[in-house]
Amino acid sequence: MKAVLAIMEIEQKALFVIFGGTGDLAKRKLYPSLFQLYKKGILQDNFAVIGTARRPWTDEHLQEVVRTSIASNDESQKQIDEFVRHFYYQSHNVNDTEHYVTLRELAEKLDLKYQINGNRLFYLAMSPRFFGTIAQHLKSQNIVTDEGYNRVIVEKPFGRDFESAKELNDSISKYFPEEAFFRIDHYLGKEMIQNIMALRFSNNLFRAVWNNRYIDNIQITLSEALGVEERAGYYETAGALRDMVQNHILQIVSLLTMNMPASYSESDIRREKIYALKSLKKYSPAKVAENFVRAQYIGNDGQVGYLQENEIADDSTTETFVAGKLFVNNENFSGVPIYIRTGKRLTQKTTRIDISFKEMETSFFDSKKLGRNILTINVEPEGQVYLQTNIKKIGQGFDLKPSRMDLQLNNENEVVPEAYEKLLLDALLGDATNFAHWEEVAYAWKFVDSIREAWDAGNGDLSEYKCGSMGPKESEDLLKHDGNHWVFTGE
Ligand code: NAP
Repeated sequence: MKAVLAIMEIEQKALFVIFGGTGDLAKRKLYPSLFQLYKKGILQDNFAVIGTARRPWTDEHLQEVVRTSIASNDESQKQIDEFVRHFYYQSHNVNDTEHYVTLRELAEKLDLKYQINGNRLFYLAMSPRFFGTIAQHLKSQNIVTDEGYNRVIVEKPFGRDFESAKELNDSISKYFPEEAFFRIDHYLGKEMIQNIMALRFSNNLFRAVWNNRYIDNIQITLSEALGVEERAGYYETAGALRDMVQNHILQIVSLLTMNMPASYSESDIRREKIYALKSLKKYSPAKVAENFVRAQYIGNDGQVGYLQENEIADDSTTETFVAGKLFVNNENFSGVPIYIRTGKRLTQKTTRIDISFKEMETSFFDSKKLGRNILTINVEPEGQVYLQTNIKKIGQGFDLKPSRMDLQLNNENEVVPEAYEKLLLDALLGDATNFAHWEEVAYAWKFVDSIREAWDAGNGDLSEYKCGSMGPKESEDLLKHDGNHWVFTGE
């Protein structure tokens, strides 16, 4: 950790090559994040960015696009002018070998001009079907350098099942070793998700009770208020299970349930996360139907149902909601139900984790009146952690009331960096702790595939839920069956 902090203060020399430089991700996330790194002095004089895509843009046009993408920040014009001058555009079809020759020449020229020492980060912000082609050409056309480092960053979705993910992985790892391969799961860049390890391992209080002796159940909710919007084509082929559970939710599960790593190091942390994912209990197809719920939103309150959305087949069975009960069968968590749910068109956008502690048998109090201790990690929108406790009501007698203990995370003046900014910095530093290792991806896909296959074989019906609700009744029943209920009601 100390080493990382020390490096952060030092300027990083790098050439970024952004494939998909005209796309939505580059404009909304990558350019603003690079600007934040520039403002912090992590990028200074010795960096350049090549944006590439097919559109016949010029350097000036890309620079204008970059300027617009960071315009919401109230920054001095001079600093923005200096920053955008480091941006270059090359019109490039990734399937055309000739274009890589031009790309190499431009990369070499910029390397010399900005004295970058051969450090290259290739960001593949485009459809995964191009990843293998790009990786192969980067190698065969000598765009990777011998002098500095060569790292490749890829976006989700990383496959649509284990087989396709493996194929995708092989197509890149033929040319880039695992340590140079950064698979983005932007949830891992979120401050509150990174706080899970801090909470768990730096507080004796939580370390002592973070196990199946004290934790009754864990609940993870990733809800979205939006529908499929303009991603209908992709969503139809994915569904909530592939889109949200395979990556974000299972990553959160692994951080919550992994054993304490031997050290704060990439290899030790990843080893424990892999082990947690490997320990996920697999269900028989019949048990999938009992332990997983899938559903689709139907029109309500002026909002159209999934089947009425543009580009969605009238008879689509793609799930826009999934809830499930998971178990991580490791030493500390076996027997603890982990309830998960995610969906579109729910009451609000939120990401939160509720850890519900066991009720205590006591003759001192009327235990029925005692509220459970619940630790809530409210990832977004609030970015808060609080603990539900019981305290005495003020005044005569000894009545209890619930009270919330808020954990202060930051000062008012501290700005929480955007996930992409943190992940780009990690990639610059060569620290892959907050990226998904291939084995994590592989175990997560194997688990998700077993659910998908059971559904495809007719185990588990597709339910409905109204837009603006928190999902179907079956999702409530899943917990009710165990005598539990969702802590977060969506209100
Ligand atoms: P997008 O807006 O559709 O951008 C795709 C980019 O690829 C464009 O710059 C396009 O530019 C370029 N492109 C397409 N075919 C090409 C070809 N043959 N040769 C060279 N360039 C080509 O997509 P996006 O939303 O930025 O998403 C990019 C990737 O990130 C996707 O895999 C997506 O799933 C993932 N992702 C995106 C987000 C997000 O917030 N947008 C979030 C998570 C993951 P031209 O048309 O000019 O060629």
